Amino acid sequence: MSQATPAMKQYYAAKEECPDALVFFRMGDFYESFGDDAKTIARELEITLTNRGKTEDGKQMPLAGIPYHAIDNYLPRLVKKGYKVAICEQLEDPKKAKGIVKRGIVRVVTPGTAIDSSIITDAANNYLMALAGSFNPDSDKKKSKANDNGEVFGISFLDISTGEFFGTQFEDSAPYEKVISEVARYKPSECIIQETLAQNELLMKRLAENKVKIESFSCSKSVSAEVEKCESDLLKQFKISTLEGLGFSGVDYAVLACGKTLDYALKTQMRELDHIQPVQFYSMSKNLILDSMTLRNLEIIKNTRDDGENYSLIRVLDKTKTPPGSRLLRNWLLRPLVDPAEITERLNAVSALKENSLSRYDLRQHLSNISDIERLVSRMIYGNSNARDLISMRNSLFELPGLCAELSQLCGSKANPKTNQKADSKANQKTDSKANQKADSKTNSRTESALLSEICDEISQFDFTAELSDLISKTIVDEPPITVREGRMIQPGYSAELDELRNASGDSKEWIAAFQTQERERTGIKNLKVGYNKVFGYFIEVTNANKHLVPENYIRKQTVANGERYFTPELKERESLILTADDKSVALEYEIFREVTEHVSSYAKEIQAMAHLIGKIDVLCSFAEAAIENNYVCPQLDDSLDILIRDGRHPIVEKTTEEAFVPNDTEMDPVENQFLLITGPNMAGKSTYMRQIAMIIVMAQAGSFVPASHAKIGVVDRIFTRIGAHDDLAGGKSTFMVEMVELANILNNSGERNLILLDEIGRGTSTYDGYSIAKAVVEYIHNKDKKGVRTLFATHYHQLTALENKLKRLKNFHIAVRETGNDLVFLRKIVPGATDKSYGIHVARLAGVPEKVNERAAEILKEIENESLAEDESRGKKRTARYTQLLLFDPENAGAEERIVEKFVEHPEIEELKSEFKDLDVNHMTPMQALLKLEEVKEKLRRLEKE
Ligand code: ADP
Repeated sequence: MSQATPAMKQYYAAKEECPDALVFFRMGDFYESFGDDAKTIARELEITLTNRGKTEDGKQMPLAGIPYHAIDNYLPRLVKKGYKVAICEQLEDPKKAKGIVKRGIVRVVTPGTAIDSSIITDAANNYLMALAGSFNPDSDKKKSKANDNGEVFGISFLDISTGEFFGTQFEDSAPYEKVISEVARYKPSECIIQETLAQNELLMKRLAENKVKIESFSCSKSVSAEVEKCESDLLKQFKISTLEGLGFSGVDYAVLACGKTLDYALKTQMRELDHIQPVQFYSMSKNLILDSMTLRNLEIIKNTRDDGENYSLIRVLDKTKTPPGSRLLRNWLLRPLVDPAEITERLNAVSALKENSLSRYDLRQHLSNISDIERLVSRMIYGNSNARDLISMRNSLFELPGLCAELSQLCGSKANPKTNQKADSKANQKTDSKANQKADSKTNSRTESALLSEICDEISQFDFTAELSDLISKTIVDEPPITVREGRMIQPGYSAELDELRNASGDSKEWIAAFQTQERERTGIKNLKVGYNKVFGYFIEVTNANKHLVPENYIRKQTVANGERYFTPELKERESLILTADDKSVALEYEIFREVTEHVSSYAKEIQAMAHLIGKIDVLCSFAEAAIENNYVCPQLDDSLDILIRDGRHPIVEKTTEEAFVPNDTEMDPVENQFLLITGPNMAGKSTYMRQIAMIIVMAQAGSFVPASHAKIGVVDRIFTRIGAHDDLAGGKSTFMVEMVELANILNNSGERNLILLDEIGRGTSTYDGYSIAKAVVEYIHNKDKKGVRTLFATHYHQLTALENKLKRLKNFHIAVRETGNDLVFLRKIVPGATDKSYGIHVARLAGVPEKVNERAAEILKEIENESLAEDESRGKKRTARYTQLLLFDPENAGAEERIVEKFVEHPEIEELKSEFKDLDVNHMTPMQALLKLEEVKEKLRRLEKE
């Protein structure tokens, strides 16, 4: 190190400051990287790796660099791959520096703290998450068993680009469904996790499955001392005296998570983060909980085919016009409400907007001209913005008076929008008069929506918008360049000093033109040219053919391909005048730009609040728009446990299916129709039917109208789904194992106000196991806490339909099909009662399985069945018949299937198993215990089968 150049010494110091980041070290027009960083960067960005100087141990020092102006192309690629990048800038003007230019790290860019529009997307928030908790890897086995019953977790989310910040605390046990469901909801791009938790393999694996980039933080002191420090940091940041007012009381791990998030944000951003809103405590019980599996199964944000947004619920509903609106819509769908009154407020607003098409149209026109103002202001705070951002901000602010006028018109609100008061811009006048003209035609359509009136009143309170838009209009030209260091962005007439400098520079440019004419005449060289370039400044260019005409006072400067370049002392003198004036005016323009940006930034909190309100209007309009486009109705929400849907449709399938979608009714109540057991052949539409009910509930509780002709819903506070078998082979779990882990979670955690969707439980194992498990599960859920849980249960085990006689809240339904000869027509209609056929062969035939195979399958089935029945007779009822999955192929043997299963179930050991199942206290079993139990049952069954 001692032999290192001064610049390299600075580099080593920077690297030491951020050892885990790739350091981008600014040297002139390049960001250079050295050593291993250079190797990584060259590999990841596919740029050339060279060498420069020697390392400390005398080896060649690898070097890779990118031009400074191309940073927006390269940085996102590294960050999206999960790298941390520390930007080490020149902290002073190299021209003015005495000795080596000062350099220092100004920002560390990480996936969760990026604000750059090239890294984050408009439609989604970019969250940094922190996770703290009570897991102690050093505890002995006994203790860790106690942990299985529930560890306490604190979790927090911060979006630096919008300033949103919130956290909560809850208990969760392996396999950490609650933690994972929050991760699935907010999709953080980075998570900082308490070191002790990072040693919890299962948790880490589950986080990794959700593609979260993980960093760990240590608690150097005791947890309580860390919590204290975090609390004091948070209080200082938000300039408050207690966290209780924000909802944090007796929630140490939540405070720890929030404090660590703030700390990480400050350490990476290296600046004050005043735009972060005071952290809010959120309670999970205030929202309909949708765990990661449910989000996936219901395709709320992404489809299950390719994980894209096509064919997802959000794609159907998203008619938003602004980025804050599109982010808020996502939020509302991921966190539907549970309070009927609050939901009804949203629905009333949607009704009002739906009925008043003219107002809605105008509101949406205004919205479509509003940019992402909450992120614009964050970029301004960071000094990452340009003059175009100011123009976008101004254009957005222009829309507010009109938006406000429309809203108050719609609500009949008496609010006197302050946003109008000082507005004197053309745009304001235009929108105002437009709104006035329409006022008369709309007076009859005033509407009752408390929520819209509230939003209108709140927006009206902002009195800074006209001042800001005026300031920007006065200072910034309408079409400024992208860069802020080359001038041409400040309006003439704003600064006398700037105007003078510009005149001086302009006069000189005229002088140059005159000089060129004069020299052409003087020398007789007709094509003599006076030009300029950045390196050599002003020059006189003469082609080789005219070189002999060059006068004596020309001094040679540079040889070019077809001529020579010269200068004269007179030209040199003028050059320095021009350059000084240009330099000064560019610097002054930048100064003015910075002042305006700072002034706008001082309203960051208000702008964020306004963006949130704009987002709300946008989402409500979007719901109204989707309701009209898709023919949705307004649902009624209440505290009952009923679900009544007339002509319900699946919001996605109805838009994508080639056949006409067949609507279906649903009637659920806690007395007789709590558990709907749905049978029907494969492909009949069971899964679609179950999902459509859940999706209608999610939509309704988010505040959207729903695809039905009538819907009355007793709010649901959690939806569990176990639909379809998907492998987790990469995670090392078999399909069956995945199924059982998910099932265990549902059985352990479901309650009266939940809705459970179970599709083909037990399919992943042999029919014996599958049937036994399915039956035990039906009984368990039906009898849970003596009240049962609302459940939709699709199954191919027709024998289960017999349970209708035993379980009073269970009702059989099936999806009707019509058989015509060998053909099967799916009627898609749900009807009461059970099916008695599996139609396996029909479905195989429809799917194109060769006829020979179908015929042979039926034959085999018959053989097996005859064989087993014969064996039965010869042994009395001592042993059970062989019962295999193949039975499912046979349409004609459904009766036999039932008989065989019944016999099987009668076996004394099976009886024992049954009672064992009945006595299982699933509530107090860990998933692992449940799995071991299943394994034991499976072993027993296997043994019995062999006997
Ligand atoms: P199952 O769960 O019974 O195997 P699915 O629910 O997967 O059947 O439905 C199979 C296909 O039938 C779906 O992909 C969809 O295209 C179509 N479908 C389902 N329900 C309906 C309906 N009500 N109207 C029209 N088509 C439907």
